Amino acid sequence: MSQLPWHDSLQQAIIQRQADGLYRQTRLRDGPQGVKVNVDGRDVISFCSNDYLGLANHPALIEAFKKAVDVEGLGSGAAHLLTGHSRFHDQLEEALAEFTGQQKVMLFATGYMANLAVIDGLLDRGDAVIQDKLNHASLLDGGRLSNATLIRYPHNDMAMLHKRLHGVANTERKLIVSDGLFSMDGDLAPLPEIMALAKQHRAGVVIDDAHGLGVIGEQGKGILQYFADKLTDKPILVGTFGKAFGTAGAFIAADALVIETLTQQARSFIYTTAPPPAIAAATLKSIEIIENEPERRLQLQARIQQFRTGALQLGLQLMDSFTAIQPILMGDEKRALAVGQQLEQLGFLVGVIRPPTVPKNTARLRITLSANHSETQVTQLLSALEQCHVH
Ligand code: PMP
Repeated sequence: MSQLPWHDSLQQAIIQRQADGLYRQTRLRDGPQGVKVNVDGRDVISFCSNDYLGLANHPALIEAFKKAVDVEGLGSGAAHLLTGHSRFHDQLEEALAEFTGQQKVMLFATGYMANLAVIDGLLDRGDAVIQDKLNHASLLDGGRLSNATLIRYPHNDMAMLHKRLHGVANTERKLIVSDGLFSMDGDLAPLPEIMALAKQHRAGVVIDDAHGLGVIGEQGKGILQYFADKLTDKPILVGTFGKAFGTAGAFIAADALVIETLTQQARSFIYTTAPPPAIAAATLKSIEIIENEPERRLQLQARIQQFRTGALQLGLQLMDSFTAIQPILMGDEKRALAVGQQLEQLGFLVGVIRPPTVPKNTARLRITLSANHSETQVTQLLSALEQCHVH
């Protein structure tokens, strides 16, 4: 029997969670990811995936995957440092170094592990990690794992970041860490200002651009391309493949010595099995599509504009975002949940984001747009939002 001696208090905590509107549940999807999905037995229009460019079920990626399986089989069977590092992994690292304009790249099975690695592999007790308060949970966990002193600054507040850097003036190794495009707000980090402060205070910078890569910048090269003409130095970059790239996994791109150091020291790289090589082969194909099909980004931008214009006309409380992530602030968890359920009844699935993912009293509907959404689908979502009296 696997029941714990404190079973009753676990049960109580679950009941409390339900009463507070904070209970989370897995949904069951049948069939591929896309804008039309079958979830829990119902067909709905999804506005909650991170498949921003509609690549998760793209035939060219699937073909590349199948071909790679024919060549290299399925499982990688070992860690990268043993025999798990395949030819496709190597090619993907090279392609990403080119794509990001960085010296070297290393791969990870998930973004969560890349973020643990990039902080834990570079910092130790006595060092300082300075994080935006709205950073993704995996970055915050990377900080905790490293035993470095964790310092946080209010979201995108450069005056406070400056102050925090002054506070650790005597600490030799300090790393500023920020999401590039914030996952729950859709806004961008002020990267040129962050880089300038880092230079002034001799700090390193890590940017997790999980949501910006593929989506912003002329060729989809993310926040670094978006701010290219205002940047003289590059931060260490984390990117993930589970979103715009349409596959799975992640990478860190940086100068050769950083990657060498992480290869030696990052535990979430060393002690884990390399992802299947065919995933790397499919991801190589997504890079090609991201670079060569700007029309996907244009299509996405058109849907974003359409949504924002319509939502503002309805008086909805939008956030300051020009990206595919378009949250509507609800405040109260239970209200957010109720509206999410109402929308679902009407056939639309949106993210209902509650604490602790976002700060207390900032529960929100997280609406994400995809290049594959049609104009009609966005119009239908707007009219469903109107029916739900969201404003
Ligand atoms: N960073 C950010 C900003 C994310 O939103 C996510 C995933 N939601 C991750 C990292 C983790 O990536 P993965 O899903 O590949 O573990």
